[in-house]
Parts: sequence; structure tokens; C-alpha cells
Amino acid sequence: MKILVTGGAGFIGSAVIRKAVSLGHEVVNLDALTYAANLENVATVARSPFYRFEKVDIRDRLALDSVFATHHPDAVMHLAAESHVDRSIDGPSDFIETNITGTFNMLEAARTYWAGRGKPDNFRFHHISTDEVYGSLDETGQFTEDTGYDPRSPYSASKAASDHLVRAWGETYGLPVLLTNCSNNYGPYHFPEKLIPVVIIRALSGESIPIYGDGGNVRDWLYVEDHADALLAVLEKGAVGRAYNIGGENEVKNIDLVHTICAELDTLRPGGAPHNQLITFVPDRPGHDRRYAIDPERIRTEIGWRPSVTVKEGLAMTVRWYLNNEDWWRPLLARQGVGKRLGVKP
Ligand code: NAD
Repeated sequence: MKILVTGGAGFIGSAVIRKAVSLGHEVVNLDALTYAANLENVATVARSPFYRFEKVDIRDRLALDSVFATHHPDAVMHLAAESHVDRSIDGPSDFIETNITGTFNMLEAARTYWAGRGKPDNFRFHHISTDEVYGSLDETGQFTEDTGYDPRSPYSASKAASDHLVRAWGETYGLPVLLTNCSNNYGPYHFPEKLIPVVIIRALSGESIPIYGDGGNVRDWLYVEDHADALLAVLEKGAVGRAYNIGGENEVKNIDLVHTICAELDTLRPGGAPHNQLITFVPDRPGHDRRYAIDPERIRTEIGWRPSVTVKEGLAMTVRWYLNNEDWWRPLLARQGVGKRLGVKP
């Protein structure tokens, strides 16, 4: 298959590309290279004859048309997005423009291209989204694909809007769409403004480890390589027009997650132990969702996918990766906003 992957210089998109190329797919990586991008993430496949890169912004419809006309993809995996909730609180407009208008442009460019080729049944537009569109859970319950949308941050609202557009393009124009909503990812190449890399990097430097609120927020963590496997499995086997929730079956409170990382570092870098003494509670994020949990029944039974690693195994691999790849993450600390407390505006 020739797959057009948007956002392929980011965290999850790059994992999808590395996996897809290793499986023998041709990939076109379309990315605007925002502050969150790093082409080092795809360095292992960059010289492959199966890999191409297009520096294009999904807000630029004409440029998108040109990419479709040049590369003739069999499928689109649309991951390009502004992805950091804290940044969406400080500056929501980029989220509206990229996540909503950009997705609209992608849908229109894909629809034009697909119609121009006689509407092939086997074309796919796979939209990659988040479980955050469902809002916040209390102590019990899980999100299913039938859970009503209830986004509570500018980020999740913009992703919810993009999901609605994708469904509408499927229903109205017959575009063969697929939709996945995934829980929190972690693993190698995670940009150092997100919780897990922040904890590892600050602990290594002996700096305070900030925990929002009381640390009791629960997330269902999924190792990024498992997410990439799930996405490629849905692309291959998913029913057109259907949505699939993807979860890690690994619900953990933030504070427990941080203690696990600190314990891992105590073993691997005993010099600064015990690292959990660096934990500092800081004011909560406004509108901070309390709990996310995924019911993975549909993807398990219909696609035959389930995660391959537990959060304990995945965290151990991730901590080791950050210890061994300082050359990757250290330059990123100089990027705009990284290392600063964002998203505290009421
Ligand atoms: P990321 O921020 O690491 O990467 C996003 C990529 O999109 C970057 O390479 C960036 O340059 C690119 N991009 C941003 N705006 C663009 C634009 N206007 N035009 C072209 N490219 C642009 O994000 P991620 O964590 O890899 O997330 C990828 C997708 O998966 C997003 O759609 C996100 O909503 C979704 N998702 C993420 C998670 C998670 O835990 N990270 C969970 C579920 C779903």
C-alpha cells in the first residue's frame, strides 16, 4: 500500500511510519514541521526507497491537492494536529486552524482525489483521534464507541470537531473513512513537554517533578509502538465508516506512574536516588479531566488487536530509551515553551 501519513515527524506518526516501512508499505510523510516535529524521529527509514517527505501545512489546501496528485496514495492516515492540552489553553486558535480547518482541507483534498480516480472502494481515509473527545469519567465506567462526545478542553473540542467532520464526509459523500480514538500514548520519541518525558528528564537533572493537582488523575496508558500496530491493523481490517477505541488496558493514577518512573531511575541511575523526593505538587490544569478509561472490546473482537506490553514493561523500556538517547531530547529543550509551565490561565 502507498500510505500518505500526515504528522509523520511527530511522536505517533513517526512510530506509524517506522512500522509501515518495515512492513513493506510505501509512505509519504506530510508534515509542516512545527515546534513538535523532529525529522530525527524517522531517521531510521529516511533513506528507504519506500519513504518520501513533503513539508506541507494542512492549512494549505492547494499544497495538499498537489501532494495527492504527485503521489497517488491508496490510503491516508491523518495524524497531523496540535496535540498539547496546556498549549491549547494558552493559544486555542492554532488548534482550531490545524485540527478543524486542516482536517476539513484534508477531507476535501482526499475527496477530490478519490472522486477523480472513480471512487475506488479500497481507498481509506483513517482519522486518528483521542479518547479525550468523550470528556471525563468518575471512578467507574469506560468509554465505548457509543459514549457521547463531551470534550472539555480547547484541544479535545477541536479533535471532537474533526471527528464529526470525518463522519460527515463518510455519510454525505461516501468517502471510505475510518476513525480511531486512542488513550494516552508514551514511549520513545515522546516530545519533552508531555508528562512522562518531563518526569524522566527533570528527575535526571535533579529538578523538581511537577504533579498537577493531587496527582489522582487516571489515564489508560498505551505504548506508542502498540498504538502504531493497532492503527495499521485498523487500516487493513477496519469496516468502512466504523470507529474503534484503542486503549492500553493499563489504567494508572499520575502519581503512581511518576513513582514507578522514579523507582526505575533509582535502579538505573542510583546516583540521584530516591528520585521521588523531587515530586512537587503544583496548581491543577483548568478543566483537568479526572479519569479516562477505554473499553477495548470492539478492537479486540473485530480487529483481533490488543496491547503487547504492560505499563510497567513499557515504562522500563521508555526510561532506558531516554537514558540512551540524550542526543535526541536535549536539543528539544531549547524549543519555544518547553520546560515552562503552560496552560494555567483561568
Ligand atoms: P505530535 O504533537 O507529537 O505531532 C504532531 C505532528 O503534526 C508534528 O510533527 C507537527 O509538525 C505536525 N503538524 C502540526 N500542525 C500541522 C499542520 N498544520 N500541517 C502539517 N503538519 C502539522 O502529536 P502526537 O502525539 O504524535 O499525536 C498525533 C495524533 O494522534 C494527533 O492527531 C493526536 O490528536 C492523536 N492522539 C495523540 C495521543 C497521545 O497520547 N499523544 C493519543 C490519542 C490520539
